[in-house]
Amino acid sequence: MPELNYIPQGRSTISLAFFNESRILFLEALRAIIVLKTTKSKSSTHKEEAWTKLFEAFGNRLKLKVPLASYTTFGIGGRADLFFVAEKPEELVYAVRIAQKLRLRFMILGGGSNVLISDSGFRGLVIKNECQHILTTRNTITAQSGALLGEVVKVACESCLSGLEFVVGIPGTVGGAIRGNAGAFGGSIGDVLTRAVVLTEGGEIKEVDKKFFQFQYRESRLKRTKDVLLSATFELRGQAQKRIEERMAENLKKREESFSGAEKSAGCFFKNLIQDGQKISAGYLLDQVGAKEMREGDARVFAKHANILINAGSATATQVRRLAEKLKERVKAKFDLDLQEEVVYIN
Ligand SMILES: Cc1cc2nc3c(=O)[nH]c(=O)nc-3n(C[C@H](O)[C@H](O)[C@H](O)COP(=O)(O)OP(=O)(O)OC[C@H]3O[C@@H](n4cnc5c(N)ncnc54)[C@H](O)[C@@H]3O)c2cc1C
Repeated sequence: MPELNYIPQGRSTISLAFFNESRILFLEALRAIIVLKTTKSKSSTHKEEAWTKLFEAFGNRLKLKVPLASYTTFGIGGRADLFFVAEKPEELVYAVRIAQKLRLRFMILGGGSNVLISDSGFRGLVIKNECQHILTTRNTITAQSGALLGEVVKVACESCLSGLEFVVGIPGTVGGAIRGNAGAFGGSIGDVLTRAVVLTEGGEIKEVDKKFFQFQYRESRLKRTKDVLLSATFELRGQAQKRIEERMAENLKKREESFSGAEKSAGCFFKNLIQDGQKISAGYLLDQVGAKEMREGDARVFAKHANILINAGSATATQVRRLAEKLKERVKAKFDLDLQEEVVYIN
């Protein structure tokens, strides 16, 4: 079985090779902190058990109090209580299962290009997904969920497989893209997905098809559940590499025109509205209410595109959210329409 598809079924497939003296010291220090800080409620016992198991498995690869700002494109965010970089699916699965079983709060972080993490950070475990294997067959490409979209489209192009050119230039990972059904130039990632492997919120590993995700515009079932995407397979069609490269270059050029200068953002902040089957551009509505004149500290509206909020220096999450609220209020007051965030708030 190729490594990509190797997904452990057992509870602990992680080697305990990480077990060493420094881990014991670290663990003891951690226990002491927990005992000092918490009264022994049932949930704190669970939490301690979860932390202990994670330390046993991952040793000092499990980090404490990690600042998250540099893991996001916004460059904003406080610290995570616990932080772990999963490099293999079995590590990702193990960490999630421990968190699920012992009710430790957790989140998967992909490229951090669609999140706004609060200034106080994340109370629980952040699992940074760096499972990045990509495998091609005659007309499909299968990628682990931590693979960067940019890598996937590059491999597709090198393999003369067409159908993913619209994602070129979208930052982030396959997991984040499937969750939000990311897209551009009229295409969405859900259009080309055929199969995937998910870890359900019940801890089960399941192979699923496209229907499972209930894709809609910037929506999928992953937004409504705690299911974790492990890998995805896209069905593409053979085409001359040169034609694929040309389309990618065209798309990149168009993106360069609209996005250059917006690197410290999370892309479009609000979703476009769909009313009676018609799309209403959030950017248009925001332009009409004078969004580009508005700011909160270093949180600004991007001059080229009113639906992009940028961190123009050292903006805080509080400032970005305050600006977003004001923008929503203005649109509501003028058009009686409710804008909905595309960006995910992490508290
Ligand atoms: C300059 C710029 C341009 C952009 N242009 C576009 C665009 O054209 N089109 C577009 O659609 N988006 C665009 N975006 C937004 C963003 O790049 C996409 O939404 C991207 O797909 C997010 O992926 P990520 O890995 O960064 O997700 P993250 O920001 O890391 O996470 C987003 C959410 O997905 C969840 N998640 C991540 N991985 C998994 C997983 N394996 N399983 C389950 N849940 C998971 C996270 O927990 C979080 O809730 C842009 C962003 C920037 C900064």
